[in-house]
Amino acid sequence: MIEDLVKFESFLNKSLRYCRGVGEKTAQKLEKKGFRTVRDVIFNIPYQWIDKRNIGKISLLKDGDNAYLKVRTINSGTWVPKGFLNKKTRGYTALVTDGTGYLTLRWFTDPPDFIKDLLKKNQEINIFGKVKVFRGSKEISHPEIEKIGFSEEDLKVKILPVYHGLPQGFSEKIYRKILYDVLFEGRLLLKSLLPKEIKRVFNVIDTGEALFNIHFPQEDFERDKWEQRKSIYHQSLLNEELFLFFSLLAEKRKEIEKVFVSPLSFSGELLNRFTERLNFPLTKAQIRVIEEIKKDLKKDKPMHRLLQGDVGSGKTIVAISSALMAVEAGKQVAFMVPTEILAEQHYLNLKRYFTGLDIRCHLITSSLKKKDKDDILKKLEDGETQILVGTHSLIQENVNFKDLGLAIIDEQHRFGVEQRNLLIKKGRNPHTLYMSATPIPRTLTMTVYGDLDLSIIDELPSGRKPVRTMVLPESHRERAFKIAEEEIKKGFQVYVVYPVIEEDNQLELKSAKEMYEVVKIRFKEFNCGLLHGRISQEEKEQIMDSFKKGDISVLVSTTVIEVGVDVPKATVMIIEHGERFGLSQLHQLRGRIGRGGDQSTCIVLVDTKRLSKEGRERLIFFRDNSDGFKLAEFDLKLRGPGEIMGTKQSGIPEFRFVDILKDSYLIEKMKINTENYFKSPPSDYLKYLKKIQQIYFQRDLDYINVG
Ligand code: ADP
Ligand code: MG
Repeated sequence: MIEDLVKFESFLNKSLRYCRGVGEKTAQKLEKKGFRTVRDVIFNIPYQWIDKRNIGKISLLKDGDNAYLKVRTINSGTWVPKGFLNKKTRGYTALVTDGTGYLTLRWFTDPPDFIKDLLKKNQEINIFGKVKVFRGSKEISHPEIEKIGFSEEDLKVKILPVYHGLPQGFSEKIYRKILYDVLFEGRLLLKSLLPKEIKRVFNVIDTGEALFNIHFPQEDFERDKWEQRKSIYHQSLLNEELFLFFSLLAEKRKEIEKVFVSPLSFSGELLNRFTERLNFPLTKAQIRVIEEIKKDLKKDKPMHRLLQGDVGSGKTIVAISSALMAVEAGKQVAFMVPTEILAEQHYLNLKRYFTGLDIRCHLITSSLKKKDKDDILKKLEDGETQILVGTHSLIQENVNFKDLGLAIIDEQHRFGVEQRNLLIKKGRNPHTLYMSATPIPRTLTMTVYGDLDLSIIDELPSGRKPVRTMVLPESHRERAFKIAEEEIKKGFQVYVVYPVIEEDNQLELKSAKEMYEVVKIRFKEFNCGLLHGRISQEEKEQIMDSFKKGDISVLVSTTVIEVGVDVPKATVMIIEHGERFGLSQLHQLRGRIGRGGDQSTCIVLVDTKRLSKEGRERLIFFRDNSDGFKLAEFDLKLRGPGEIMGTKQSGIPEFRFVDILKDSYLIEKMKINTENYFKSPPSDYLKYLKKIQQIYFQRDLDYINVG
């Protein structure tokens, strides 16, 4: 086994410079695009294939066909795509024939000269691409082209891979040749990394064999299967990766399970007194989740639970309920949140909820005066403080709990692994509750938070009306203000949000400070307030407080109000420069309104000059959808998981092959199987596991700590 691994690793890490056919120039070009080692090229799998086994006939082409054709050019020339106002955009087009019919080739951008050369009149070429048939005329956009006589016979393959990410102008032919040589020689060195048992059950074949057949399919090639990543080779590779990925989590779980704590002892009496005082009934989902947490707290293992619920679903109540169980059991609770405003708000809420309950709750933020801070720290050490709410200040060195029993982390994705761990280390194996409003698709949760238990609040408090959303060009600002004014007259309140605090000459964006002056004049009959990250804590508190009380009608703000802020009487939100915000941010912002039972309106103003096509799509999707999960999925397609989850900082290795959306159906199955396997894996496989993980994910995995 170990020799196999050594061979595996050294082959993967072999520099391309030592590979056949790679000279200095080629190597440099490839390196610019990140292709340095064998690993880089063989793990870059093709997204389509040119099947040269049959040459098609134009007369027989149907819409959607992937055609490989031998044709002659009739004419070619520049073409200006319709709908592109920008006159600089030029396309290119050519009419070709194979004697059975005519076909148009089309480029939406100006193609490189070598393509234009290939398209000279009467020249014969081979082309490959997906056919579109529109009103009887046949077209291929951006086809692959090669000169007749060009031969890849020396590769002995008839089905050629097409890749993303090659250096511009780099010959596909040369790339394929390099790759073919590399794989042909090395494929036998890449044995499967999975244990025998799993290999058998999942039909996993050797890694090298799978890769070879993906890059250079043989006679069993079926286009649909390959393109949908469903060939036995793709499945094999994907399952291998998933197994290795979940093996990391399984190990982590094992570590966790070795830890014992004494179960918390409480009757739930304090919790009951709290819920009786609420002026609303808990939702079914809240009750269920609180029950799940209660069970966890009574176990002899620390809880590791992720609480997910869309914006406004009432996670705070669940957090408080959990805190009260721990408090009744005589433990201290830490409640960490990402912003001072939120900390402040939670603290005020807690105090309000706790009147008459005799619970000692304190707030710690960075803007606290030294003396007050020392005072709080002392109370904390003495065990007098029962619940401590705070920002990152909670994890500073001089913060010492007497007996931290439960750590709650709100908006947990805003903290890095390090920070979350620092908080947990303030106690001896405290229970942990992570909360997140970023609704992410199930399969993503399973991977990124795979080692946490999951509780989901899948229901909003009753009586909420969906927020009406409008997207308008910013020239319609007055219309938005008019709507706001009407609402204020009815006693409601308004947020106006800007992307930046101050004017910045480079960006030329409207800023909160600058527009505050405009808003003040427009709404001169009403009280206006300005809130952003650079005003003092005291002032912030004061403004938030006045807004909460209803003394301020219009709050001009930056995105500091994005998370958690809860003012039920606010029913209008105007977001300026909507084109600057991502979907999840817009969703969070919109989540600030529609919290009472009143109809609310969100108006997104857009600087249309800066609006990209993608931005337009995003805003329309936002307007038409209020379900956080749907928005997240859309976002995921647009931006990929890395950016959304901040996986870079989460310490989770990224998948090389697995695509969370495309391969979702495999993920759950493999997770369960991996977990089962690790309940009692044969010890000789375990011996190599660390090494295997390291080879595969190519990094030091010691710091992996999902929670
Ligand atoms: P989030 O899940 O976004 O953190 P919050 O906990 O801030 O949501 O709750 C949003 C609002 O809903 C708050 O004003 C809260 O008091 C209210 N709320 C919470 N639970 C219920 C419920 N069961 N019925 C009615 N309103 C509720
Ligand atoms: Mg919240």
